[in-house]
Amino acid sequence: MQLVFASNNPNKIKEIQLLLPDTIQILSLEDIGCFEDIPETATTIEGNAILKADYVTQKYGYNCFADDTGLEVMVLNGEPGVYSARYAGEQKNADDNMDKLLSNLKDQSNRAAQFKTVIALNLNGKQTLFTGIIKGAIIKEKIGTNGFGYDPIFMANGYDKTFAELTLEEKSVISHRGLAVKKLVEFLR
Ligand code: IMP
Repeated sequence: MQLVFASNNPNKIKEIQLLLPDTIQILSLEDIGCFEDIPETATTIEGNAILKADYVTQKYGYNCFADDTGLEVMVLNGEPGVYSARYAGEQKNADDNMDKLLSNLKDQSNRAAQFKTVIALNLNGKQTLFTGIIKGAIIKEKIGTNGFGYDPIFMANGYDKTFAELTLEEKSVISHRGLAVKKLVEFLR
């Protein structure tokens, strides 16, 4: 079976292909000749995952899945959430996003947060969503150099290392994306 993953991120594609049974072959957006930017204009993480999966299925006719992720900080009512990638502005980077978050949480004792990934799967005309959540806290300074995004300031509950201090293998066992992919794989099996 062929299944499109609505992404061109080679790391994500490799990671997911490794977790899937051999009978399922992942195609990237490039593989199906989709070179345009797929709009991510929804106001929720679920909405953006659905937008991306539906775009591919409706325009290209493939069975497809898409993922979307956000960091939700409880005391900020779930911010930056769906806007995690561009929290500090369209042209800003991960460091700017972390600086803005640390500044917004200055003097704040409640630092509870969670990463949430939603995967939307369109398979033979039916849509199914899979959610992965990891709960933790935003620490006060950046620690660690692995990973990406908000990893240096996120510590999962029960751990004394940030995501940026874990290896990719250690992180993917407990991470939001790992959990959502595991549910997708169980469903497909
Ligand atoms: P995406 O939907 O996977 O592109 O994720 C959106 C944004 O959420 C990214 O640009 C990062 O800022 C943040 N993010 C997603 N996954 C992670 C992660 O595993 N660690 C840290 N930040 C992440």
